[in-house]
Amino acid sequence: MAQALGNLFILAAPSGAGKSSLIKALLENHQDTNMHNTKMQVSVSHTTRDPRPGEVDGVHYHFVSKDEFKALIDQNAFFEWAEVFGNYYGTSRITIEETLSQGIDVFLDIDWQGARQVKAQIPDTATIFVAPPSQAELERRLRARNQDSDEVIKSRMEKAVAEISHYHEFDYIIVNDDFDAALNELEAIVAARRLRKVKQVVRHQTLFDDLLKD
Ligand code: 5GP
Repeated sequence: MAQALGNLFILAAPSGAGKSSLIKALLENHQDTNMHNTKMQVSVSHTTRDPRPGEVDGVHYHFVSKDEFKALIDQNAFFEWAEVFGNYYGTSRITIEETLSQGIDVFLDIDWQGARQVKAQIPDTATIFVAPPSQAELERRLRARNQDSDEVIKSRMEKAVAEISHYHEFDYIIVNDDFDAALNELEAIVAARRLRKVKQVVRHQTLFDDLLKD
């Protein structure tokens, strides 16, 4: 069976929309099933921000200094990069290109600025925006995380609204009210992208040769 080029997906959302949990659940559900004979992988970004408790270098991010990040920009090592709320974040070019060429689907957990840059380079990318069901619920989720001051919560809400203001730039929108429903919707998008003719004709070349033989 021939191998189609992997699909590229971008998931963007304000903090508190549940994006990370959705990606985690999607990967857990499909790690072994190999749905449509395609594997999936989440790209690990580089960042200049400090690791949070529990974050592991090379797993959650590649944590680098500002100087290291700038050197990587000069080497054209990033497929896209952006400054997000005072820190730099970037997606490794070689990892994306090599993974896609192996027929593996790649998920990018990046912001709207990165989504714009990737879409400009690979228009075939499926860009997905995850929104919370209401402003009140978003605030509740941001407060539930820890005991932050009202000022910190206010700043998080402002950042969230700044990200949400770009929702119309995305191909797909998922409103994460009920987690399982949102996960089903994400899986539906992944399935539909994989089932496109352009992918299926490559994947099932032998089948169609066989079906059409005299
Ligand atoms: P956090 O610091 O909370 O992990 O991420 C802050 C924001 O940066 C999130 O919206 C996240 O999606 C975004 N982000 C993470 N990695 C990248 C990246 O490689 N490129 C861009 N443009 N944004 C990123």
